[in-house]
Amino acid sequence: MVFDSPGVTPLNPARDSGWNLHHSYTGLPEMFYTKVAPTPVSSPRLVVFNRPLAERLGLSPDALGGEEGAAIFSGNRLPEGGSPLAQAYAGHQFGGFNALGDGRAILLGEQTTPDGVLLDVQLKGSGPTPYSRQGDGRAALGPMLREYIISEAMAALGIPTTRSLAVAETGERVFRQDGMLRGAVLTRIAASHIRVGTFQWAAAAGGESTLKAILGYTIVRHYPNLADSENPALALLKVVIDRQAQLVAQWMHVGFIHGVLNTDNVALSGETIDYGPCAFMDVYDPATVFSSIDRNGRYAFGNQPAITEWNLTRFAEALLPVLDAKEEVAIAMATEALEEYEAAYGNYWLVGMRKKLGLFNKEKDDLSLVEDLLEWMHQTGRDYTNTFAALSQLGPVDDRFLEWTERWKARLGRQTQSLEESAQLRRDSNPAFIPRNHLVEAALAAAQEDDLAPMEKLLEILANPFDHSRAAPEYQQPDETGGGNYRTFCGT
Ligand code: AMP
Ligand code: MG
Repeated sequence: MVFDSPGVTPLNPARDSGWNLHHSYTGLPEMFYTKVAPTPVSSPRLVVFNRPLAERLGLSPDALGGEEGAAIFSGNRLPEGGSPLAQAYAGHQFGGFNALGDGRAILLGEQTTPDGVLLDVQLKGSGPTPYSRQGDGRAALGPMLREYIISEAMAALGIPTTRSLAVAETGERVFRQDGMLRGAVLTRIAASHIRVGTFQWAAAAGGESTLKAILGYTIVRHYPNLADSENPALALLKVVIDRQAQLVAQWMHVGFIHGVLNTDNVALSGETIDYGPCAFMDVYDPATVFSSIDRNGRYAFGNQPAITEWNLTRFAEALLPVLDAKEEVAIAMATEALEEYEAAYGNYWLVGMRKKLGLFNKEKDDLSLVEDLLEWMHQTGRDYTNTFAALSQLGPVDDRFLEWTERWKARLGRQTQSLEESAQLRRDSNPAFIPRNHLVEAALAAAQEDDLAPMEKLLEILANPFDHSRAAPEYQQPDETGGGNYRTFCGT
């Protein structure tokens, strides 16, 4: 042994990096994955690296912030203990059912954090897999940086989400609609990548035993307290319904539009996953759609709660064989569980909206108080984020708002907390900073020209979205064109 002598530090960089990868996913039947390695790239270069997240994962930022990180996060070198695989799944894409799978993503393994949490480490854009279909398995720099910025902003907003550990450029070009683009790989960290589509795949291509396998795995990994339930499938259905209701409510509180809420993009952990054509709404309008491929507005801002219920119904369908041996009993159970969704969503939404208005207690007219404000915002074309952030400073903008303000002030007066406590609750619940579309685009455009400063500044601002004392008006203004013509493209 070379490193046995006392006082000599092992120089093996892989070991010093802090990896401790596990591979629980390979305990599932083989239909759930294919072992496949990332395809090496010509000249890897680290573009952005999330040092605080690396630390939370028990990884060494210093060991991974340079050449070693560039090699690992581009797929050129496997981290110690890495055992790469692509996951199989299916999904309803814009309503149509397809067999899918990781066409350009590879799971390196599951890292146990110092807090004892098991998290997936996945490369996105790391080359073809057996599930690539016609795709090249690659990703362009712009969309990977976009996922990095928006997922990190969501995390800072306190919304469950996958995280972004790094983006590495490949030194290779990818061919896309708008020409030859710089290629990149994103390293994504997730509670897991189990999707509604994973269960749909099990139900469509396997049988009861495969469904039971993924059911058992999901419960152990995410909801271990459900293991002793009388009917674990029903318990899982109920908890997933509840988590999704909560998650979508949180999106609605900040104006987030996922953009491609296909069933393969719904994570059973309750995290926001698969940032493609997502964006934040500026002017409040429930019909807002940014994605160029969402021509019918299926995934419009205001449709997200309903489409999530649709997705959950697909999840319940996949679970039917393990809910009960008798199909009609299983259907009755699933229907009953799904009926809870609307009330659960409505409750999470109103609880959050009360906080946004600085309300601590409940009154029966709170719903109409919120709805009337939203309707006014819609009709007068108000910025969603800034209106909530500055609610008490807006003044008598028009008669209708004046009348609303009177009601709101009277309502604030009917709670025991002081006006200052209410103002603090509003500051803690209404972000001062969201990833404004034009700022994200400007940061990405600069990054394409190798100027990373705008992105780094934006990331720094978005890391503290509730810091209302920060004077950075240029990061708070909506796009001066109103943002209505903003278009996003699928993260390809
Ligand atoms: P998404 O819209 O990102 O959720 O992707 C939908 C499906 O298309 C997933 O199975 C992806 O793995 C696959 N996919 C997207 N882009 C590519 C690509 N460039 N090459 C191969 N597969 C892809
Ligand atoms: Mg997807």
